[in-house]
Amino acid sequence: MNSLSPALRVPAETGCADAPVLRERGQREVFCGLTGIIWLHRKIQDAFFLVVGSRTCAHLIQSAAGVMIFAEPRFGTAIIEERDLAGLADANDELDRVVTRLVERRPEIRLLFLVGSCPSEVIKLDLSRAAQRLSARLSPAVRVLNYSGSGIETTFTHGEDACLAALVPVLPAAPSDAPPALLIAGALPDVVEDQFRRLFQALGVGPVHFLPPRRSGDLPPVGPATRLLLAQPFLGETARLLEARGAQLLSAPFPLGEEGTTRWLRAAANAWGVSDRAFAAAIAAPAERARAALGRHRDLLDGRSVFLFPDSQLEPPLARFLARELGMRIIEVGTPYLHRQHLAEELALLPAGTMLSEGQDVERQLDRCRAARPDIVVCGLGLANPLEAEGLTTKWSIELLFTPIQGYEQAGDLAELFARPLIRRVRLEV
Ligand code: SF4
Repeated sequence: MNSLSPALRVPAETGCADAPVLRERGQREVFCGLTGIIWLHRKIQDAFFLVVGSRTCAHLIQSAAGVMIFAEPRFGTAIIEERDLAGLADANDELDRVVTRLVERRPEIRLLFLVGSCPSEVIKLDLSRAAQRLSARLSPAVRVLNYSGSGIETTFTHGEDACLAALVPVLPAAPSDAPPALLIAGALPDVVEDQFRRLFQALGVGPVHFLPPRRSGDLPPVGPATRLLLAQPFLGETARLLEARGAQLLSAPFPLGEEGTTRWLRAAANAWGVSDRAFAAAIAAPAERARAALGRHRDLLDGRSVFLFPDSQLEPPLARFLARELGMRIIEVGTPYLHRQHLAEELALLPAGTMLSEGQDVERQLDRCRAARPDIVVCGLGLANPLEAEGLTTKWSIELLFTPIQGYEQAGDLAELFARPLIRRVRLEV
């Protein structure tokens, strides 16, 4: 590994590395893991997500995805009726019937996820056995896997973690003498993935694989030569399973903003022994574009205060970006779960003294937020409208999962997501 120039060396910041965390276990206001289907079904183009759930579950994903009735969405719901709940029908027979009909009607499906829900868990429907049974019947044309998207003790980004974790056991094994390969875990919009692919190529880092892949036939290999870089901070179980298969996790902050992206790329470049000079040359132009784009929003955001409710698990990297690259004042960073190891570099970069909270007791947190009167509140949909009605400006955290925000070219767009609500509020008040 090469030594780093002072400009590129990760400073020994401690920020909030050892900061106390307020742990709350009260009422929560979050969506369930089914929500992840909305971005995952766009990513894996020959997959289908079959929710085994109630009409409520069907309603949630249909309204959240804004389905057009003429589109053929790659997700649906096998409705558990009351007689299933009462144990009057064999839910497995019904599920087999639904799946048979589905694959006959949609021959392009190659990967079928049976997605568990609160109702399927309540009636203890064993979807892992159902997936094995159906896979045996439908393979090799269709592979059937399962995961849980239930809202019991989870938040909405758990859905992606559970989905990717379900893929890990079926990833091919990399040959023991394979050269090092980089595996990026976490769903990224195709446009962002293409940009990163070009940057890694310019750095001489590769081969590079992505999880999830765009097509189910392109599952990335994994083994001791795999160097794992997380693109999302909510992949605790996926990372654990990949490491159990030999992958080595590279420690890095997440690629939000110019600084986050540079440090994230640098972690991979270090593992490949890329020199400071080659690294600086490869990132110079896009990093400069990112700084220029951020500069256009800094005047408006500098010094403004922000309160982040626990929702997407993106909150710590987001707070780091808002504080360090846009000069915002962080009042509280809430996150549903704090994975100390995966977030170590993010916490070290957060301004010392930042209030961190994990879990939620929504009424108490609302009290803290109201008392602080922040300039902008990052929160879930359920809290946004009431807070707007109280005169607070809000940003929906779920939007950060639907919008391309990672990487240099998106740094300005990410800043704009926070500038826009403030501009709108000023216009409303004029
Ligand atoms: S999985 Fe649970 S929380 Fe999610 S929509 Fe269905 S019933 Fe509601």
